[in-house]
Amino acid sequence: MDLKWAKRIADLPPYLFAEIDAKKSEMRAKGVDIIDLSVGDPDIPTPRHIVDALKKAAEDPQNHRYPSYEGMLSFRTAVAEWYKERFGVELDPKTEVVALIGSKEGIAHTPLAFLDPGDIALYTDPGYPVYPTSISFAGGVPYAVPLLKENGFLPDLGSIPADIAKKAKMMFVNYPNNPTAAVADGGFYEELVDFAVKYNILICHDAAYTEMAYEGYKPSSFLQFDGAKETGIEFHSLSKTFNMTGWRIGFAVGNGKAIGGLGKIKTNIDSGAFQAVQVAGIEALKNYKIGLEDRIRIFQERRDIFCRGLDEVGLSYSKPMATFYVWFEVPAGLTSKDFSAKLLSETGIVVTPGTGFGKYGEGYVRVSTTFNTDRIIQAVERLKEAKF
Ligand SMILES: *Cc1c(COP(=O)(O)O)cnc(C)c1O
Repeated sequence: MDLKWAKRIADLPPYLFAEIDAKKSEMRAKGVDIIDLSVGDPDIPTPRHIVDALKKAAEDPQNHRYPSYEGMLSFRTAVAEWYKERFGVELDPKTEVVALIGSKEGIAHTPLAFLDPGDIALYTDPGYPVYPTSISFAGGVPYAVPLLKENGFLPDLGSIPADIAKKAKMMFVNYPNNPTAAVADGGFYEELVDFAVKYNILICHDAAYTEMAYEGYKPSSFLQFDGAKETGIEFHSLSKTFNMTGWRIGFAVGNGKAIGGLGKIKTNIDSGAFQAVQVAGIEALKNYKIGLEDRIRIFQERRDIFCRGLDEVGLSYSKPMATFYVWFEVPAGLTSKDFSAKLLSETGIVVTPGTGFGKYGEGYVRVSTTFNTDRIIQAVERLKEAKF
């Protein structure tokens, strides 16, 4: 049999980390102690009260049956109440909220609802790789809008050619941002709404990190701004806020017609998130402040330790006000990939080359501070001894 992959997967860009992965295994086999700071997956367990809610809900046979694709009304209501309390945004739980099996699932399915083959969709680069991949999977044409240091890693909407903007159907935006850790203020979101209205573009704002912010800073929801709900939706996740990456629960909120479109795709593909996980999600959202300050304090301490290390070594970065990432510049004369490879062979530290997030990530690497604090301290010690 001559089995061929479909173009949509055969044409995916080559896996950028293959070389680093091979090197990592080789060094591990030799007994080198590898400090892998490349993956953004919190090391801290899910809070006890949420785990207990899951245990109890798992015992209830009602929860063993198929859930509804759009999520339990009680879960969607808890989401709407949390949005009201946290952002002052009113949402109708029946039409403006849909539960997701992790926000990645919702992000990946959204282009299927809004793109016809050949339609352009905008996304920011460097960024979460799911944006361009899911646009391509839907037959759309991804158009990268660069995030540059001189613009504070915000997209310069005015630089998008008018003919591209006119043809674009949707745009992925993400603040607080992974991988640059940049944050957006109200002025940016107002501009984004104007841009969306002018060109009739659905804004898909990925807000996975609004609760992971430092020094008392409280990031906004895109939906807080006038006209936002007419032009877009927002993805949220319990993964990062509550250390629940393995649980697979998130949600999308905003424009009713857009949420309905995503729901139509989902009802034909999946059958919703395990209800016991939704019940635990309700517990998380209703008591979202439990332990949050403590978790933020841990990540802030790690950020400070790592950034102090970068200062001592003389590598440039902007101090992250949110997310658990540090995005820093590689030494002059090296590419992101070369620096990452060199760092690995000389120190055993694994970082993600910026180009893993798109071509405009060149010149940078990302570290994640989702590893125990002692390891971060060790990484900084090794960094200080390394020669670049
Ligand atoms: C982690 C992450 C997500 C997805 O998280 P889920 O676990 O799928 O909810 C979405 N967007 C960004 C930018 C992320 O970093």
